[in-house]
Amino acid sequence: MLIQLENPVILGAGSNTIISSDCADFPIILTKKLAEFSIEGNVITAQCGVKTAILAQKALDAGLSGFEFLTCIPASVGGVVLMNASAHKQALADVLVSAKVFDLESKQVFELSKEELELSYRSSVLQSKPYVLLEAVFELEPKEKNIIKSKMEENKAYRNSHHPSMKTPNAGSTFRNPEGAISGKLIEDAGLKGAFVGGAKVSEIHANFIVNFDNATSFDILNLMSLVQDEVQKKYGYKLLPEVKYIGNSEKEEQIWQKLNN
Ligand SMILES: Cc1cc2nc3c(=O)[nH]c(=O)nc-3n(C[C@H](O)[C@H](O)[C@H](O)COP(=O)(O)OP(=O)(O)OC[C@H]3O[C@@H](n4cnc5c(N)ncnc54)[C@H](O)[C@@H]3O)c2cc1C
Repeated sequence: MLIQLENPVILGAGSNTIISSDCADFPIILTKKLAEFSIEGNVITAQCGVKTAILAQKALDAGLSGFEFLTCIPASVGGVVLMNASAHKQALADVLVSAKVFDLESKQVFELSKEELELSYRSSVLQSKPYVLLEAVFELEPKEKNIIKSKMEENKAYRNSHHPSMKTPNAGSTFRNPEGAISGKLIEDAGLKGAFVGGAKVSEIHANFIVNFDNATSFDILNLMSLVQDEVQKKYGYKLLPEVKYIGNSEKEEQIWQKLNN
């Protein structure tokens, strides 16, 4: 998206966002310092900048189950609510109760119920309305700590063997799964594992990950995404849509981004 200078971009951990290498000539608000949380019984209230790995560890320490999947997602509370993150048969929607948001339009702060957050596959109302998530409330399930811990370890072991490591930086899944198909499988079946543009490459370990193996620029990544999108559409008829976000104000990149999303 081309950013209006008067509208700040909000970033949590930035793990799901491709930032233009050309320039990010606009205000960006990092939520890193909004990092307070509290645990009362089985209810956890967390500000938007709390890191998910910390949240998962604190839930484990309190004997609360529901965040085991977050141990492998390098994100912030704001990012995972906006994306309704999920993995390993758990989703944020399973535990989210309500959220406090700031409306950039009306400049009001208000509470949204789970229903009003409109959570669905990799989506929430935060993607369609100018809301900044300030804080979220979660209700978890009391469970024995050793059961929670072994689930977290199982998730980590799965990731270590099925996903590229962060030695080759990446933004997680590049494309959303289309209805009735799995993006990674379509990309792999199209023979695109290892395909590259500049320093960006389709991971040989998991085809829905694009890894930065040699000083990739955002332009390399977007061009590779475009190539993958075209090939999969030509071979299988599915148009893969980005799961990652892009911010920048480069005209040449904006053109590719528009093409990827339309
Ligand atoms: C190695 C790796 C593995 C991953 N695995 C998974 C997975 O298994 N499942 C999954 O669902 N995702 C996964 N992801 C994707 C990603 O981490 C998450 O979807 C997460 O939502 C990103 O959080 P973030 O804080 O990094 O968001 P950012 O990249 O900082 O931001 C993402 C979007 O959220 C917006 N945003 C951030 N904070 C706020 C806020 N407070 N209010 C309003 N908007 C906000 C930003 O403007 C942006 O549009 C993975 C990513 C990586 C790198």
